[in-house]
Formats: sequence, structure tokens, C-alpha cells
Amino acid sequence: GVVIDDLHKSFGDVEVLKGIDMTVSPGQVVCLIGASGSGKSTLLRCVNRLEDPDAGRITVGDFEATDLDVNLDAMRRQIGMVFQQFNLFPHLSVLENCTITPRRVLKQSRDEAEREALHQLDLVGLKHLADRRPAQLSGGQQQRVAIARALTMKPSLMLFDEPTSALDPETVGEVLAIMRDLARAGMTMIVVTHEMGFAREVADRVVFLDKGVVVEEGTAKQVIGAPTQPRTQDFLRRVL
Ligand code: ATP
Ligand code: MG
Repeated sequence: GVVIDDLHKSFGDVEVLKGIDMTVSPGQVVCLIGASGSGKSTLLRCVNRLEDPDAGRITVGDFEATDLDVNLDAMRRQIGMVFQQFNLFPHLSVLENCTITPRRVLKQSRDEAEREALHQLDLVGLKHLADRRPAQLSGGQQQRVAIARALTMKPSLMLFDEPTSALDPETVGEVLAIMRDLARAGMTMIVVTHEMGFAREVADRVVFLDKGVVVEEGTAKQVIGAPTQPRTQDFLRRVL
């Protein structure tokens, strides 16, 4: 799981995260919602230390993420991240996109890496497209490859930052379906999303962030269905 304790982060004079507390138990799915600029991506990026927090503490499984001497490579191997932009290597095939990191980082043989990659591609329904280049796939297919690629590293935590925001509306559902399957298989996930239907169906907890502060959190039923805070109510009126 993940424990975030009194996390602060500023960019210059602007404090973007103002003392965030958040816990994700193993196997839980937490959806992070909030307006543009509220600090959602910064929070996610602090978890795998793509950003260095100014104060506070983050624990990811056995790793003290905020310790100066944490083994960042080992920690990041446990954490899969999927972004709005798919970030696939354009010059590599789908299969090669999924084998390059296990081969380089985990020193897997080609055979071993390909077997696992084809297994993960099969789970996202794209094994038959393993020889294609990313540009020959739809956005939704590319994002499913990005998820499969992350899973080849056998992460214990998956971070999603608006994974469907760049997709054509008709392909959003296929990516959300994969994420739902992953959640049901017991993956620990933090998902930044504007898909309130997904949050309602899949999230164990929903956290509403506003201007760097957790304003409201609880079950999806509570936070999305019956928000108590005016700022949450305003936000939901705008997105629903
Ligand atoms: P969105 O929904 O638009 O993705 P967000 O909730 O993810 O927004 P962040 O990207 O975390 O918000 O940004 C929070 C604030 O921090 C914004 O005001 C942003 O401009 C600022 N910010 C983020 N990264 C940096 C950076 N590297 N340098 C300076 N300011 C930054
Ligand atoms: Mg963001």
C-alpha cells in the first residue's frame, strides 16, 4: 500500500500541495478527483519521486519513498505509471515496447520477456497486434499497450494520470474496462480521472483535492453521490 503523511510541495513561491494525508491499502483503488491545477499530477509524481517533496513522508510498500537514501530504482520497479499521453516508443513494435524494460532492467532473456509480454498483451486483447508499430494503433489500443507494458514489470502499485483524457470518446470504454479488470484482480491503484462513472463503479475511496488540500474523501457513494463540502459540490456540478 501507500501512506502519504503531511506532504508539502511548492514550485517557487507557489505551494501546490499543502499537507496531504492519504492512505491506499493493498488491493485498494483510490480515485483522485479535482479541478485543473489542484495538484493531482504533482501528488502522483511525488509518489514515485518524479518530484521531490519539500516536507512530509511517503511510504510505498516497504520503501520509504521520501528517504534520501531510498533505492529509487528498486522502488520504481514496483510502481507502474500510465499517463494521458501513451509514451510508447514509436520506432519499436508493440511487442518490443513491452519487452525492452524487462530485458534491460530485469535482465530477462528475449524468450522470457516475450512470453510475459504476449501474456500481458493477451490480457488487454492485443496479442494479435504485437508486430505493429504504435502509430498503426488507435489511441485506445495504444493506451492498452501502455498498461500491458507497465504490467510486464510486475508492479505492486499502478498510478494512472488521466489515462483516458486524450482518447476519442468511443475508445475510452475499452481502456476503463482493462483498468476495471486490473482492479478486480487486486491491483493497488491510484487513478486521477474525470470519469465519475468509473470512480463510482471501481473506486474503494474517492479523494477530492482542491488547491492542494484534501477537501473531502470517502466512498464513491459518499463523495460523488452525496458530497458534504460546497467545493466538492461545485466541482461535481461542473463535471457531471
Ligand atoms: P490538471 O487537471 O490540469 O492535470 P493537476 O491537478 O494535475 O491539473 P498539477 O499538474 O499537479 O495539477 O499542477 C498543480 C499546480 O502546480 C499548477 O498550478 C501548475 O501550474 C503547477 N506546477 C506543476 N508542475 C510544475 C512545475 N514543474 N513547475 C512549476 N509549476 C508547476
Ligand atoms: Mg494533471
